[in-house]
Amino acid sequence: MSHLVFRGRLFDGEETMEDGMVVVDQSKGTIVSAGRSSDVERPKGAKVISHPGATIIPGLMDAHMHFFGSTKHDLMDWVTIPETMTALRGAAEMRKLLQAGFTAVRDLGSKTGAYISQAEREGLIEGPRVIAAAKSLAQTGGNDDPPALPINVSQQLSYSYYCDGPWECRKAVRLCLRDGAEVIKVYASGSFAQGRPPRPQLTVEELKAIVDEAHRAYVKVAAHAYGEIPLSSVIEAGVDSIEHGIGLTDEIADKIKKKGIYYVPTLSAFVAAKPSASAERNAFIKRHLTEDMRIAREHDLKLCCGSDYVGCEGQLHGQNYDEITSLARFFGAKKALVAATSTDAECLGLKDRGRLKSGYQADLVVVEGNPTRSAGNLAPEHVLYVVKGGKTYRSP
Ligand SMILES: [Zn+2]
Repeated sequence: MSHLVFRGRLFDGEETMEDGMVVVDQSKGTIVSAGRSSDVERPKGAKVISHPGATIIPGLMDAHMHFFGSTKHDLMDWVTIPETMTALRGAAEMRKLLQAGFTAVRDLGSKTGAYISQAEREGLIEGPRVIAAAKSLAQTGGNDDPPALPINVSQQLSYSYYCDGPWECRKAVRLCLRDGAEVIKVYASGSFAQGRPPRPQLTVEELKAIVDEAHRAYVKVAAHAYGEIPLSSVIEAGVDSIEHGIGLTDEIADKIKKKGIYYVPTLSAFVAAKPSASAERNAFIKRHLTEDMRIAREHDLKLCCGSDYVGCEGQLHGQNYDEITSLARFFGAKKALVAATSTDAECLGLKDRGRLKSGYQADLVVVEGNPTRSAGNLAPEHVLYVVKGGKTYRSP
């Protein structure tokens, strides 16, 4: 049996301790023990890896991203790009994600995410564990249906299944499951991707059908929601996580909290957004970065880290730690790191990951400095070690 032993400041997914130790069983790929170094038994003869000032943390997670395989931030390109290209770019992005310390991500809708996930699990490509939605679900004329294309062309090329009425919605869930989905993603509103202000999409009846069908297969539902009406609808329908979640009120936040729904505010794109000609877009973004964050803090929502990066310029995979720095601005670096590790693992349904604990999968990262004080220490250039399933993928 061979061991890897790391010693130093340790953030276990919840708490930080100055002199911690983690013992990894490389053959099983699991953590033998982790905690204060005085409480952890060091295996005889094992070499101890220690870097002054560095911090040992669980592998990072991104609960909301897309393998769009496009270099542009452009809906038409996302829809029309060939699947072969999305798969090839996706394989390269997987490696970048892993090298940046991401050991699990959730792809909330793309043409090839479910197959990229399968390839990783088969050991064909290196990368994080991918919980993929396969395609997303949207109504006809919905968020990612480019109005310029004839509907049959759009539906054939899209990374979404368009569905209308409860039974089509149920069938769309079944198609995703057939493709290998481990989560279902639904658009309960527009965004600004079509170049017009977002409006509610899909009815509560349709959303309920989607949630029921997904839950019957023991799969969670992640719902994109911009605005108070879509937020109220997805809460009533019983979704498991709310994506973007623009338009919180105290009443809505109360319901999110009571129902234990995860909140994935996907701040990075909004933080980086420049003022546009659309007053409504500017107002949405301002509300998200002020009122929404204040309410989320006050109601202590189950905060998750999801970048909504799609891989194009300004949203490159491998730079997903941007979301942790964005969260840190509003919630502090430690809570941002909790979101990107233990809370994301719960949201993704990865029960034995996201924490450095005995019996958990050995997914860990060592970074220079203290990321519970400054999230900037999570930048890829500060990553010293990346270990996933007990195997070392990066070392100095
Ligand atoms: Zn998204």
